[in-house]
Order: sequence, then structure tokens, then C-alpha cells
Amino acid sequence: MGSLPLDAPMKPLDPHAIAGDSQAILEFLAEYYGDVDKYPVRAADLEPGRVRKLLPEAAPEHGEPMEHILEDVRRDILPGLTHWQSPRFFAFFPMNASSAGLAGEMLSVGLNVVPFVWAASPAAAELESVVVDWMARLFSLPRRFLFSGGGGGVLQGSTCEAVVCTLAAARDRALGRLGGHEAIARLVVYASDQTHATFQKGARLVGIPSSNFRVIRTSAASGYGLTAEAVRAAVDRDVGLGLVPLYLCATVGTTGLGAVDHVRELGEEARRHGMWVHLDAAYAGSAAICPEFQDYLDGAELADSVSMNPHKWFLTNMDCCCLWVARPRDLTSALSTDPEYLKNVGADGGGAGKPAAIDYKDWQISMSRRFRAIKLWVILRRYGAAGMRAHIRRHVAAAKWFEQRVAADERFEVVVPRRFSLVCFRLAPRFGRDDDDGDDATNHVNRDLLAAVNASGRAFMTHFVVDGKFVIRLAVGGASTELQHVMEVWDLLRGKAAEVLQHYVKPNGL
Ligand code: PLP
Repeated sequence: MGSLPLDAPMKPLDPHAIAGDSQAILEFLAEYYGDVDKYPVRAADLEPGRVRKLLPEAAPEHGEPMEHILEDVRRDILPGLTHWQSPRFFAFFPMNASSAGLAGEMLSVGLNVVPFVWAASPAAAELESVVVDWMARLFSLPRRFLFSGGGGGVLQGSTCEAVVCTLAAARDRALGRLGGHEAIARLVVYASDQTHATFQKGARLVGIPSSNFRVIRTSAASGYGLTAEAVRAAVDRDVGLGLVPLYLCATVGTTGLGAVDHVRELGEEARRHGMWVHLDAAYAGSAAICPEFQDYLDGAELADSVSMNPHKWFLTNMDCCCLWVARPRDLTSALSTDPEYLKNVGADGGGAGKPAAIDYKDWQISMSRRFRAIKLWVILRRYGAAGMRAHIRRHVAAAKWFEQRVAADERFEVVVPRRFSLVCFRLAPRFGRDDDDGDDATNHVNRDLLAAVNASGRAFMTHFVVDGKFVIRLAVGGASTELQHVMEVWDLLRGKAAEVLQHYVKPNGL
């Protein structure tokens, strides 16, 4: 496969070695993707410690050919993986990969430039500002999030990092207004019981007392979306106690159920108190490339920041999170640094009609950073907006098909109406052991059903619990997932349901 002879002097960036090693990896990956559907999506018989037992205790003293390394990957590593790119992976949320994503990632890691300040890699910094503007336009985000509208965006590794940055920006903005750091004990963050746990972690990290994190209950009546009314009640209570509302998170497409918060009314409520509003569209943001989903972002102009993860459902290999802010100054005031060792990189302060250079280190936590922009740029150019819309619509249509089958089968029920490509369902209570609708018994049956499906290796799904109900989640979104795979998983579920229910049926029948 073209690896260099091992006795050659080591030249880590030898062009022949780069070509040979990369070629070997590409052939390996092409074979893997040809076979990925043959692997159990998640092997059922794995135990902690298996891989450690297979591998030597110490790193090799001498280098080895790539062929040997790949043989070990095939033999020791692949069987222990959960195959996230299997077309039968329906767990969590999808984490897309694609040939364009791989190509873009190869360019990114291959060039390995580090655009922390503009001058450290001008084209990389500028490409990033162009790509985030392209993305904002594709999702019809308000103009205030574009660089030309006074805002701007950055590519980070995850929503978790992006959230910490926005919380720090909101904190410093508020503390500036309140006249000093002591006021931090009075700042309050609001989220719903469906908001991703990262907001709680982020609030802790930026010094907000845990007792000042409000988790507001949602209910089936609002489709588990957060309402302004509920926020108002919590805020009024806090203001009455002398506390200061700081930050409100609105989510479009919650992790557990795919629920949607009422962005406009939440934004209006938050503005009354000068709160920072963050709009988290980590998963469902990708759907906003289709006009029929853009209404879910209605009211986004009231937000201070918006984030979404192309690495979930936008054919982008890990990692990539877009964060847009309406006032970059809020972010950079909280995050900028000015160390001496960066002053020798040819500063460019803009001025006299020149656009200002962007130092992206001031838009994120770390200083060093990846050249993610080239990956997203390759993907957008390779598939185009039309290709991306087709990708999203294909999955939404398959999820809709599945939801209809679930609704039409009297043994099952859809627990919350589907909005995007996530279907939350379960075996209905009357098919549990308990005639009085007992959720414990129903939950038991559904746990067994999910375990049976996952143990088959022919699909992998995960669960959520809402209002005490154990819910099975089918998250359609794998890059190779087609309607046919969803049809097959429906057959599998029905078969496993029949087996599982046999253990629960009372002698007098159901
Ligand atoms: N927000 C939502 C709605 C999510 O679904 C997720 C992950 O699934 C996150 C945030 C966290 O994203 P990340 O893993 O990029 O930090």
C-alpha cells in the first residue's frame, strides 16, 4: 500500500508517505463503508476491558507499517465499536459523516494551519467568516447575525463550548451594568426541564451559583415547549427576591423529544428584563435549510446568540458547531486576551476603509483552533443547498412514514407529535401488565422491547423519560439511512414487540 521502508530516515511530512498512508486509509474506509451495514450496529456481548486486554501494555519502540496498524484496527478495534455511521443507527441524534465531510476534514487536518489570530492564517480566518455568513443565509437567520449586519459567527467544536462562551459574555455584560463582580451571586439563568444539560454545566463553569439555575417545567399541553408564561412566573419571583435575570435558553428541537420552545414569546419576555437569549438549535437547526421548517426560528431576531451543529445532521464529520452572535463585542469583551507572544504575528487593526481582521481566539475558549471552515466550505460546495435540502427531507419523510405506522398500530402510541426526524413512541399502557394504566408496568415492557431490538444488532435506538413514561426514540438522520432501513426497523420492532408481549400477557388475553 505504499508505506515507506521502515529503515528510511524519518520524514513525517514526506510527500510519498503522505500519499501512501492516506491511500491506505482511504482504501480501508471505502471497504468499511461498503460493509458497515453488515456489522451489528452495537455488539451486544461487549464488556468493559475487552480492548485493553487485546492491546500491548506499552507503545512500540519502533515504527510499524500502516498495513500492520490497519490490520489491528480491523481485528481489535472495529468489533468493539458502535457503528455510528450504520444506516440502522437511530440512537441519540445522528452524527453525520459524508465523503465531502471526509475530504474537507482531510484538507483541514492535512493543511493543519492554526487560525487563532487573523495574521496566523489570514485565508483560514476569512474563509470562516464567509462560511458562517453562508450558513446564516441558508437558514434565513436575521441579518443581525451576519457580519454585514453587525453580528457574526464562529465555528467551534461543540454546542457545549459555544454555550460557555455565551454565558460568559452575558455574565460580563450584566456585571458591567451592575457595577462589579460581587453581583454574580444575584444572576439567574433560566432553562426548561427539556433543555440540554450543558446549560447547567456552563452556568456552573462561569460562576453562576447552582441555586440560581432555574429549571422550568414543561408539559404535554405545550408539546414540552417552554412558554413565556412559565418564564414570567419564575422571573417575577426572582426579581421580587432582588435577583437579576441573566440568561434564557430557548431550544428548537430538544434532545429528548425534539420539542420546540416558543422563541418569539420567550424573546419578548426576556427583553423586558434585559436578559441574554440563546437559541439552541443543535440538531434541528439543519432542517432550517428547508423553508418549511424556518417558522420554528420565528423570533430569532430577539436572540443574542444562536447555535447549531452541522456535525449532527448536516453531513459534516465531527466536529463543527456554528455560533452566531448579534454583538460580537459582547463575546470578545469576555473572551479576549492580548499576550505579548502574539504581538509579533503582524497585527492588522483594520482602519481607514479596511475591513477589521478577525482574531477568532477571542470568540472561543481555547487559543489554538482547527481549520473547520474549509471542511464546511467543501461540504456546502460539493452538495449545494439543494442537495442538503434533499438530505433533510428524505429523513423527515422516513420519520413521518414511521410515525404513521406507529399511530396506526393499536399496540403502540406516539408520545409527542413529531416535528423533525425524531419519533418518540412506546408500547401503549393497555399492552403492559397492568390494567390500571400503571406506568411502571408499561415502562418495563418498553425497556424490554428496546433491549431486545438493540440486542439484535439490526438497529440501535435510545430512550428518554417524560412525565414518568419510558419512551423509545427513533432518530432518523444517518447519512446512509433510507426509507427502506426505517421500514426494516418497523418490522423488527413489531416482531420483537410480539415476543416481548408474550411474557406479559395475562391468561385471559389482552
Ligand atoms: N443542545 C441540544 C439540543 C442537543 O441535542 C445537544 C446534543 O445532542 C447539545 C446541545 C450538545 O451538543 P454538543 O455535543 O455539540 O455539545
